[in-house]
Amino acid sequence: MSKALFLQDSYLKESDAEVVSVKDGKYVVLDQTIFYPKGGGQPWDTGKMIYGSDVYDVIYVGKFGGKISHELDKPGLRSGEKVHCVLNWERRYRLMRNHTAAHTLAAILVKKTGALITGNQLEEDKVRFDFSLEDFDREIFKGYVDKANELFKRDVPVKWYELPVEEAMKIPGVVKLAKALPPNIPVLRIVEIVGVDRQADAGTHVRNLKEVGAIEMINAKNKGKNNRRIYFKLTS
Ligand SMILES: [Zn+2]
Repeated sequence: MSKALFLQDSYLKESDAEVVSVKDGKYVVLDQTIFYPKGGGQPWDTGKMIYGSDVYDVIYVGKFGGKISHELDKPGLRSGEKVHCVLNWERRYRLMRNHTAAHTLAAILVKKTGALITGNQLEEDKVRFDFSLEDFDREIFKGYVDKANELFKRDVPVKWYELPVEEAMKIPGVVKLAKALPPNIPVLRIVEIVGVDRQADAGTHVRNLKEVGAIEMINAKNKGKNNRRIYFKLTS
């Protein structure tokens, strides 16, 4: 129930679905969905659900009790109805580019410094990137951004697939987020930037580093002794 279509194909922009349940008029669970629910530092998708001539705006998507719930702008849909879903693709695609960019930058930073990544918050227009590192030099960090931009010029495929947990945990650095411990599940979804990074992740990514384009650092802050925060954004 509530099949997460975006996990297999992050490029699905439209899909049909059936309404499985409706709570309080506006909270809709579907049998399958292209809408990513808020989680893992990636914001929820927005878009539309269409039933006949009625158009509902999807304003929030979250995961509750294992089910993906879509909050609509108004009540009206009922269980059993077949709807057509359309993503706000422009928003989602920027989030995908930002997400893959964040993994690339994290991989470079971890490789160069051994820093621990402590948090990530993607937005449409910028990415907040938190890490723990004793010596932080803005100019050196800019060098890592330049290195990432070099990679974004190359034809580097990005793949995602599931691995048994025991196998996945053998990959060095597969769990980069300091707080993220191996979850109590039999398989992990891995996002692999070929030759650059492999990481356990449930988010949506672009298929090739070329799609990222380029990024620039827009702000850097020290948040206590070893805690660093930088923001970056896509340049186009
Ligand atoms: Zn991620």
